[in-house]
Parts: sequence; C-alpha cells; structure tokens
Amino acid sequence: MAELLKVEHLEKSYGDKQVLHDICFDVAEGSVVVLLGPSGSGKSTLIRCLNGLEEFQSGSIVFNGKPVQPSQKVWRRLRQEIGMVFQSYDLFPNLTVMENILLGPVKVQKRKKDEAAKQALSLLKEVGMEQYAAAYPRELSGGQKQRVAIVRALELNPKLMLFDEVTASLDPEMVRGVLEIILRLAKNNMTMIVVTHEMNFARQIADKILFLEDGNILEQTAGNQFFTKPQTIRAQKFLESMEF
Ligand code: ADP
Ligand code: MG
Repeated sequence: MAELLKVEHLEKSYGDKQVLHDICFDVAEGSVVVLLGPSGSGKSTLIRCLNGLEEFQSGSIVFNGKPVQPSQKVWRRLRQEIGMVFQSYDLFPNLTVMENILLGPVKVQKRKKDEAAKQALSLLKEVGMEQYAAAYPRELSGGQKQRVAIVRALELNPKLMLFDEVTASLDPEMVRGVLEIILRLAKNNMTMIVVTHEMNFARQIADKILFLEDGNILEQTAGNQFFTKPQTIRAQKFLESMEF
C-alpha cells in the first residue's frame, strides 16, 4: 500500500525541553495508526506537528508524495486535506451547527453554499444529527458536539484524519456512539491517526500501534500483535495498567 504520510527524524522542543525525539513512522493509505502512551509522552504534540499547529525543529514530513515545506501558507492549505478533531469540540457558540460546518468549505474553499450544505446534511445524517442542523452548540450534549466536530472536519473531504482523545471528556454513555463513527470511517478506508485511551477501541481499529514514552517511539507494532505480544516490557506494563 502506498504511504500517505511519512515522518522522518522529527524533533521537537519547547524551549530547552525536548519533547519529541527522532520520530520516524509512516502511515499507509487507508490504514489506521493508533498512538498510545502515558500522559505527557508527546502524543498530542506529535499529532499537532502533523497539521502545523506546532512547529518542529528538525526532521521531515512527506504528505501525499510531496515534502512539506513548513510555512503558514502551506499548512493553511494542508489543513484542508488533514482534518483534526480534538478533545474539546471547538465549535463557534454563536453559529448554528450548519453554519459551523459550512465556515471552512464556503469561506476558505469558496465552494458553493448549496452544494456544501447538501454534503453537510448527508454527513449529519450519517452521524444521526440531521435534525440538529439549525441548533446552536449550547443545545447539544458533549457527544453531539463531538459528532458535529467530526462532520465539520469530514466536510473538507480530507485525505487524512487526526483524532486526539476525542472521547476523553465525554460522559461514558456518549463514548460508544462517537467511537462507532470513527470505526465506520475506518471501514470506509479513511486514513487516520488516532490517540485514545479506549483500549478495546484501539484494538479493534489499529492497523499499527505506535507506543510513545518520554517523546520516543518505543515500539511500532501491528495492532493485533501489540495487545497480545508487545515487544517491550514498558508497553506490557502500560497495557497491564489500563483496565480493559
Ligand atoms: P500527551 O498528549 O502524550 O499527554 P503532550 O504532547 O501533551 O503529551 O506533552 C508532551 C510533553 O510536552 C509534556 O512534558 C508536556 O508537559 C510538554 N508540553 C506540552 N505542551 C507544551 C507547551 N505548550 N509548552 C511547554 N511544554 C509543553
Ligand atoms: Mg494529549
């Protein structure tokens, strides 16, 4: 399978503190890579480097066959192809669900509003939210807001989706529904990098696991193998500490 993303020797520091060391991995088109590791191991920082929300000091990123020359302009363009959903659904409170979703496609991509709205409705339908198109974020539950955030990212027709602990702040009964949406995306061959603490979900969805600690990738293991036979003692301990 062709690589959609290739990261080589990426290093990142905040001031004097190095938080990512010699990060090398690739993501095959249509595959799912899951980042696991203890809190503070660098998962969010890494994922933020992959869509220009953080600068990095050295190393290279090749996306869709082209080396990324980091600049504001390049990242602005790439963010249309690399969608991201965070733990906190950053919807604009003064805009309706539909207006939130259409902001990117109509303002940035200059798409026709009718056509973009049609796609938005169909995506909302897929996540069971079509009746909320005219609602405001404050009228939605956390799980519903997260569904809208996912739709907003998908509306740009990204080639790669980044998910950073998107269920971490949800009530337990909301978690499953959001994870199911991501599982369905995987089934439809969306290429994704996913940070999660939901181990059963990770096991179900991961083609490859990257296990991070202190900013290093300690192991890269096929998903099915990681959970039964991790390569490092550290990963083994990590799995034991997670209840699932
Ligand atoms: P994770 O997502 O795995 O919990 P993070 O990527 O958030 O880890 O953090 C990795 C390390 O970088 C931690 O030591 C954290 O304290 C540090 N860090 C994260 N963001 C910043 C920042 N904006 N400024 C300084 N240090 C940061
Ligand atoms: Mg994090």
